[in-house]
Amino acid sequence: MQIKCTTAYQLVVIGAGPGGLCAATTAANLGMDVVVLDEQPSPGGQIYRGITNTPAHRSALLGADYQRGADLVKAFGASGAKYLPNTTIWSLNSRRQIGILRHGQASIIEAERVIVASGAMERPVPFPGWTLPGVMNAGAAQILLKTSGVVPANGTVIAGVGPLPLLVAWQYLRAGVWVKAVLELSPLSNLWRAAPRLPRALGAGNYINRGLKYTLDLHKGGVPIYYGISRLEAQGDNQVEAVSYGWDMPGISRRETIATDNLLVHFGVIPRTNLTKAAGCQHIWDDGQQCWRTQVDMWGNTNVPGIAVVGDNAGIGGARSAEHSGRLAALEAARSLDIISSQQRDAPKGELLRDRMGKNDLQWMQKDLRVRPFLEALYRLPNSLLVPRDDQTLVCRCEEISAGQIRQAVREGHTDPNQVKFYLRCGMGPCQGRQCAPAVAHIVAAENKRPVSEYTPFRVRPPIRPLSIAQLANLEVGSEGVKEFGVRSSGVGAHCVRP
Ligand SMILES: Cc1cc2nc3c(=O)[nH]c(=O)nc-3n(C[C@H](O)[C@H](O)[C@H](O)COP(=O)(O)OP(=O)(O)OC[C@H]3O[C@@H](n4cnc5c(N)ncnc54)[C@H](O)[C@@H]3O)c2cc1C
Repeated sequence: MQIKCTTAYQLVVIGAGPGGLCAATTAANLGMDVVVLDEQPSPGGQIYRGITNTPAHRSALLGADYQRGADLVKAFGASGAKYLPNTTIWSLNSRRQIGILRHGQASIIEAERVIVASGAMERPVPFPGWTLPGVMNAGAAQILLKTSGVVPANGTVIAGVGPLPLLVAWQYLRAGVWVKAVLELSPLSNLWRAAPRLPRALGAGNYINRGLKYTLDLHKGGVPIYYGISRLEAQGDNQVEAVSYGWDMPGISRRETIATDNLLVHFGVIPRTNLTKAAGCQHIWDDGQQCWRTQVDMWGNTNVPGIAVVGDNAGIGGARSAEHSGRLAALEAARSLDIISSQQRDAPKGELLRDRMGKNDLQWMQKDLRVRPFLEALYRLPNSLLVPRDDQTLVCRCEEISAGQIRQAVREGHTDPNQVKFYLRCGMGPCQGRQCAPAVAHIVAAENKRPVSEYTPFRVRPPIRPLSIAQLANLEVGSEGVKEFGVRSSGVGAHCVRP
């Protein structure tokens, strides 16, 4: 089929969160021809989602951190960078050709440099009943609150690990939502693991203080918080009707149930690596964060020439760190295109970067990073959560493959996540493994009694987001210059070649 690579830019930034916004602002201020692509209708990313159109009262209840996003968006707007909202990226290859879907039209654009700032996603953790309607991610619930002011009508139970369940419970409390309980699933033994890191984390006082404030406010608001939960199950026939939880410790085995038609879960966040994997970027296992992340240098450069990765996509570091890495990658992009010299790029401790950062931003970012090791230790997931115990638990929701089937496949000799994928088709459904890849890797590793870091994560092929055959067939056709579109044996692959 003949197609046209519709447009070429000096720099394409994928994602309009803090990382992408700061990268684009810095690059555009240096005179680069920049476009920012994001599937959301407005800029802000996860943390500042809907910041440009959230009514003042809702913005206030989301807290001061949320309102900070307005300044980033303002600077971005003033920079002259081009912005394409409602644009889904379904492919990125090592030649920096980007498959986009906008208003139902698929096309391919090219760039001399690409900065991937596509952020993180909530870690999918399969547990009994997780596929029942009424069970959803706490982050997704927060998105509904931020963008539309939608909250659970009959109250909710929030279960999982990490600061987000506390934050969402606190935001709900302020919004008048009945939070029936917060169930904290990180093991109590994590406290010992985290304790030595506490003194350093206290240097990031804002984080620790906020956590304490949320906990105190929840207690005052009558929200029960239960710690050290080791079992979680959503129960119901066609919809969640109750949450069963309990403790299994030496000498203690207790179960409780709460009636609810809504359960929010959160097990931390992991980088969204589908695009970078598809582009051939190298990924490494991060044991602290218990996930794979793209391997980058201090400028965000990957092993693929011209492709940089910033923000949470390169490892979970939080919003301020995402901003900083975005600015550094923009300087590097400008250097590589001879817009600034190496000396100018290397002066981030000097002029170029400081000009573009608020006075205290670097300090804030360093504080944020100081708290990470403490949070990672405190909220480290035990194997009993990462590896579903119950054989019946569905792991691949798209292809309906259970934990038991995956274990059986390993026993039959499919001893690698990719072999299990080929054999069972798990990871080949519409989500392309986003929901099951981590769990499959953990199950395979546990079954083989090897560390998960020894395995190669699922190989990823475009389209990384669902694309209809009609959209693919209508891929924009140009009048000048022929390009080739190919379907490879390993899956659908879009690529352009120079005429
Ligand atoms: C669900 C969730 C909720 C969170 N809530 C909070 C919070 O309340 N407070 C807090 O401090 N931190 C929160 N975090 C963490 C915080 O969002 C990040 O630390 C920070 O936003 C990282 O910024 P970033 O620029 O790297 O990515 P993000 O802010 O995540 O931005 C990435 C952008 O890329 C876009 N994108 C991704 N893939 C594609 C694609 N294929 N096509 C088109 N666009 C794409 C997304 O739409 C998004 O706008 C949350 C994280 C998640 C995942």
